[in-house]
Amino acid sequence: MKILLCGSHGRMGRLLMSLASHYGCEVVGEINRGSNFGTELARASDMCLDFSSPEGLAELCIAAAEHGTRIVSGTTGLSDEQKRRLALSAQNIPILHAANFSIGVHILNKLVRIAAGSLPTSFDIEIIEKHHSQKKDAPSGTAMTLLKNIQAERQCEEIFGRHGECKRNAGELCLHSVRGGDMVGEHEVLFAGQGETLEFVHRATSREIFARGALLAAQKFVKINEPGLYNLDDIL
Ligand code: NAD
Repeated sequence: MKILLCGSHGRMGRLLMSLASHYGCEVVGEINRGSNFGTELARASDMCLDFSSPEGLAELCIAAAEHGTRIVSGTTGLSDEQKRRLALSAQNIPILHAANFSIGVHILNKLVRIAAGSLPTSFDIEIIEKHHSQKKDAPSGTAMTLLKNIQAERQCEEIFGRHGECKRNAGELCLHSVRGGDMVGEHEVLFAGQGETLEFVHRATSREIFARGALLAAQKFVKINEPGLYNLDDIL
């Protein structure tokens, strides 16, 4: 499988470069800030694999839709406008977008959904995420996906952090973002009841899990030809 790697000079890009051949992938072109791709590279590739920036993904969407090249993207921190751009391009090409390509987090989302749908609404839910000091967006894309999965099962209103006088309101869900050092990524979902607490925690200790998950998903996604916006549930 031949891929165009968008964000190849970044932390994730370098990992993807080093692992690609283990998944039968060959990087035939690289896109970074200030560069894009033309018809020749589009013809030579099966897909664009993107771990860049929200602006990078938005630019890639335009070029890929023009050339009919499918996209697998892990870029997070998209604005509403950039999400609309993604959905618009997905009318012309298949796009797989996942805020977290770890297989463990994929299962965490399923477990959290079961818990949110099964526990009484008297259980309070909080999400705590921890990442390295250089992370640009907060809360993490993964925390927002966990929130969406919980909201699919029960009504709750999100708030971001607490300070001052702020007794907990019924039906609220607080997202807490912790930043520091070189933490790869931790997500905890807490269901706190009267006399019992249920906690789900996923800890990433190496960024390799995201690269491996993305390459695994790319192997499956190369068979998808129908335009649309796909997520990991559709593929794995
Ligand atoms: P990074 O800052 O180390 O690298 C970003 C790369 O993107 C650089 O090579 C840069 O040149 C390129 N880039 C930036 N803007 C661009 C543009 N406009 N056009 C083309 N290229 C552009 O970042 P990183 O740590 O490698 O992370 C990249 C993205 O992947 C971030 O959004 C991050 O949150 C996300 N991420 C997702 C997952 C996941 O599993 N989905 C895991 C880790 C990181």
